[in-house]
Amino acid sequence: MEILSIGTIGFDIIETPFGKTNKILGGAATFAGFSASILEVPIHLVSVVGKDFPKSYLKLFESKNINTEAITIIPNEKTFFWYGKYNKDMNSRDTIVTELNVIKNFKPKIPESLKNIEVILLGNLHPSIQLSVLKQVKNFKLVILDTMNFWIHYTWDLLIEVIKKTYIIIINDSESRQISGEYNLIKAAKKIYTMGPKFIIIKKGEHGALFFTKDKIFVTPAFPIEEVCDPTGAGDTFIGGFAAYLAKKNDLSFESMKNAIIYGSTLASFCVEKFGTERIQKVTKNELDIRLKKFKLLTNFNF
Ligand code: AMP
Repeated sequence: MEILSIGTIGFDIIETPFGKTNKILGGAATFAGFSASILEVPIHLVSVVGKDFPKSYLKLFESKNINTEAITIIPNEKTFFWYGKYNKDMNSRDTIVTELNVIKNFKPKIPESLKNIEVILLGNLHPSIQLSVLKQVKNFKLVILDTMNFWIHYTWDLLIEVIKKTYIIIINDSESRQISGEYNLIKAAKKIYTMGPKFIIIKKGEHGALFFTKDKIFVTPAFPIEEVCDPTGAGDTFIGGFAAYLAKKNDLSFESMKNAIIYGSTLASFCVEKFGTERIQKVTKNELDIRLKKFKLLTNFNF
């Protein structure tokens, strides 16, 4: 299967206790694209950038077999820009600047040649954009949804429509509480299940993730990293890797999704080692395989 990934592509400035970057390549679709490309799964990015977006970045995507055909370039407008500053604990961050720019009027138009892609990754955007994508695609097998507190708060009615059409929702613990109104994460997942998604992944940052379906739970830690330099994009890298594993195996069983979560977590552990996309865009399949083996050893025990 192949992946259609709808999300931001843009510029980031990132500040962490380890330093501050200039304007570098960022955006949710960017991280998901690099992550999926490591598993050599075809991924098509659907996004919009301005004329100021360097051609070299588009070439970089293409060099990794990330399809840029559905990235629209708007003349005379600026690319999406985000500036985030992390606190000392690296778990929380403040958004210093968000300039939506071209994203403000983003109306994705899926090219005819991409309307039959099986895996749809709905990145963190206005739910009306997510709905418009779902109206255009035809024979998809899987919709994976990412969203955030802002959309849950301000666009609830529309978001509920997207959640209804979603097969797998991937959110963090506070978002799951906000959506469900339940504090306990098991109760939260049960409530979200009644809203539509058949599978619910609740990310807990450096503490791993919980995975729920109707009557099963799977729990995984995050791969422990001694020096976390920059957590930006870890969530998007997780989703890209998760989707790519499922697409590659063409298997949507619970067991397959458990493996997909381990792949997503392992890829995310690379992402946080350097600023922005610096590390994730260079990870090799061999490095991934070595770390997957270590992950298995870390979590394996005999009674
Ligand atoms: P994450 O760390 O997973 O939240 O993703 C970080 C990426 O999301 C950055 O590279 C940003 O460019 C992008 N981003 C930041 N704010 C937004 C937003 N409001 N909507 C969509 N993407 C965003």
